[in-house]
Amino acid sequence: MGWCLALFALAVLQLSSGAGDYQLPADVTPSHYDVKLAYDLDPATNYSYFGVVDIMLVANKPTSKIVLHAQDYSIVNEKIALKGQNHQYRVMGVHLNDTYNFLTLDLDRPLKEDSIYKLTVPFYGNLQIGLDGVYISSYVNKKSKKTEYLIATQFEATSARKGFPCFDEPIYKSTFSINIGHNKQFTAVSNMPLEASSNENSLEDYWPWEVMRKSFKKDSSDFVWDQFEKSVPMSTYLVAFVVSSFSYVDSPRELSKAKFKIWARDDAIDQTEYAATIGPKVLTYFEKFFDVPFPLPKQDMFAIPDFSAGAMENWGLITYRETALLYDKDQSSFVNKERVAEVIAHELAHQWFGNLVTMKWWSDLWLNEGFATFMASVGTDEVEPSWSARQSHAVSNAMTVLTLDSLESSHPVSVAIDNPSRISEIFDAISYLKGAALIRMMTMFLGEDVFRQALHNYLIKYSYKNAEQDDLWAELTRATQQHGGLTRNVTVKQVMDTWTKQTGYPILTVSRDYGDQSLTISQKRYLSLGTGSTLSSWWVPLSVLCQGEPEPQTVQWLADDEGVDQEYRYEHGAAPDQWLIFNYDMIAPYRVNYDERNWKLLTAGLRRDSGTVPVLARVQLLLATYLQNESEYLPLSTGLGALSKIGHVLKRSPHYGAYQKYVRKLIRKAYEKVGGLAVKEIVNGDDLNSVKLQVLMSDAACAAKLPGAEENAIELFQEWMNYPPGPALDGVLRGREAWVGARVALRPGAPAPRQLGRRARPPAASTSLLAGRLDTVSRSGGRTLRQFWQPSPRRRSATILNHGRRLGTIIKILLDQFTTQKDLDERTPSTWRRLGCQCHKAWRRRASTSRGSSGTRRWSSPSCGSTLRKSSVYSARYHRGQTHPQFHFVKSFRLHGQSNLNDKT
Ligand SMILES: [Zn+2]
Repeated sequence: MGWCLALFALAVLQLSSGAGDYQLPADVTPSHYDVKLAYDLDPATNYSYFGVVDIMLVANKPTSKIVLHAQDYSIVNEKIALKGQNHQYRVMGVHLNDTYNFLTLDLDRPLKEDSIYKLTVPFYGNLQIGLDGVYISSYVNKKSKKTEYLIATQFEATSARKGFPCFDEPIYKSTFSINIGHNKQFTAVSNMPLEASSNENSLEDYWPWEVMRKSFKKDSSDFVWDQFEKSVPMSTYLVAFVVSSFSYVDSPRELSKAKFKIWARDDAIDQTEYAATIGPKVLTYFEKFFDVPFPLPKQDMFAIPDFSAGAMENWGLITYRETALLYDKDQSSFVNKERVAEVIAHELAHQWFGNLVTMKWWSDLWLNEGFATFMASVGTDEVEPSWSARQSHAVSNAMTVLTLDSLESSHPVSVAIDNPSRISEIFDAISYLKGAALIRMMTMFLGEDVFRQALHNYLIKYSYKNAEQDDLWAELTRATQQHGGLTRNVTVKQVMDTWTKQTGYPILTVSRDYGDQSLTISQKRYLSLGTGSTLSSWWVPLSVLCQGEPEPQTVQWLADDEGVDQEYRYEHGAAPDQWLIFNYDMIAPYRVNYDERNWKLLTAGLRRDSGTVPVLARVQLLLATYLQNESEYLPLSTGLGALSKIGHVLKRSPHYGAYQKYVRKLIRKAYEKVGGLAVKEIVNGDDLNSVKLQVLMSDAACAAKLPGAEENAIELFQEWMNYPPGPALDGVLRGREAWVGARVALRPGAPAPRQLGRRARPPAASTSLLAGRLDTVSRSGGRTLRQFWQPSPRRRSATILNHGRRLGTIIKILLDQFTTQKDLDERTPSTWRRLGCQCHKAWRRRASTSRGSSGTRRWSSPSCGSTLRKSSVYSARYHRGQTHPQFHFVKSFRLHGQSNLNDKT
């Protein structure tokens, strides 16, 4: 399932171990469900519905109790029936447990072991407008201006029980035959293809029409009953159906064996073309990648107007939030297209990993989600090779993990879940992104061929069954033993347990001996606050690159008992005047700190020619001072992302001006090189990374107030607002591209915001995207603060003190960047004049009165509110030769990754 980042969940995830009374007793096992449902999709009759489920069961032991799940509907106790092969049982008592939604049936005699039974439970209720179970969604039809309604489902993790009584745990795989009665004007779609439609009430035996008519207030001739084919064996959380008046487009038939249809409301059906093309392509590629065919004859994909997650991988019927499936080539941004491809590939990967082979219990959720998140990059890379998706996903996943998992409040990816109500808490960044980083790590230390072979074996062995992480480790180890892969005598389980069962990740401290080409390594858990200690240690794959060496060394290992109590010694190939770098290919989520001389060698090397250090290494280094020589998107994005965290902290301080000036110095070259906003067009519009770079630099230029950037942004935005809609200018300023301009224009006092809606063309159009981006910006700031201030109240005062010191250091070093007063006084009256500020005279007057005074100096522009202030304690005392605080400054940059807060799946 997709998720919206739930940061608070990290802080409250304190799961205790329990006795297992939250799970169903394994006394009986379901093998097949006949689910018959009749819905009246009519607000006037309060969306009433009737249902009956026949469940075929096998008794695993003699028992006179059957326990299953049921929630949110009425059950007619006297209508519940249980039939043996030649005996009708009597149900003596029916109990519903509100905590775990257990429906317990007391029988008049015990079931016989290994015998087959049919349990029948009729029920009825009213659907609610909501986001889980079977729920009502709505939208306004643009043509008729009327509100239209649809029925959608979201059963993961524990809401299938809201749809019908069932054994609602992933371990209970069954086949399903689904029959849906609905108003004739709608179309019903389910996991499997439609088998037959009938005008006869299929629930007649339990709910005669005269009973239903009292609720529906309609004739049976207004309804149709759709029977869907029997499904493959699957878990309840993957069952799905949609009843709607949506339209669909067919994918080109030659792209996949399975028939693909993309469904959306009529107003948005013209935005389905991209999904219709890449969906079947990705599915076909995954069949090849896993060497396991997709078992269903069709794949429907629905854009649902109200949807809680990003998307849900229901087998054969994937449901999406509209913005995760629809793409309008005239109005959506490139970043939106990237998101659509990523989510589609993620959900299609689940068709194998999650649907075909399913976790035994939710504690292995990370394996499902981590795997699908990793495969999203593989699938996207296949259909959009120019995007370098494998590289960019690896960076964004790992950098987010490095930030979140450095908090003491983080949690292991493999986490015990002893209360089903808390399952939703682990649909978080750690499960998805650290999971993906760890899967990628395995592909790298085992080699992709060995990894794929083992994966194939695993998927075949556990098809239509359940497995847990140890089962995958066993297959991977077996493949390794046959084909090689691990360079140390260790099993995949031994390595992976240190990464999946422990919170956090290590920081390696590398100290070179410049006399004999050796170095020592020590490892300990990295905590962003640098406080506390843990006994954790890891099996760390070491990928090392030495300057001048044509080939990197093969992966070596630091075992979980090495570098812990004493430093561990290695030899390397770098000469004393050459740098070496660890984790140059980002093989695993860990940080590295070097001795000062190696840092200096690296910095000097990067300043000379940044291209000599691989991109994935530059991304992690976050050496602020070399950024002015950087021209690639990923390192600039992570570097500026880390800097912006400091910007957030300084924003309300008088030193923010100095920070902005420092950033201006770093970005000026890259901004001018990519064209920035002055060129008034997206320079290389077909190249995703080029577009992202131009947007990144334009945004940074506006934030840092690079002369002319804001003015250009406002100008472009105004042009966009004033011109009639058209591809040319929309191409320049659509979606996220518009955000740069709009971000400026939306500041208090600017005239634009109310006009925004006029150009909106939901759902993929600029306004919704813009809102999303602005939301991201605000949440990003919020997260930075949450991370900055330790969540635990008892540690807060220590934290404030700690960060107060760090903040002081940062400010001091920022001001060190400017050697003279003149250097700092960049905004002269002529600058204000150029920027159109009418208050330069006032500015000049104020500046002249403060000149020569002691204490804090302050210059401000009264009408535009810009302020530049500098405490005299930092006046030109320092000069460039003094470097002592700079080391800490750079170090703090190195140790903080970029945040990535996009909604993910
Ligand atoms: Zn997922």
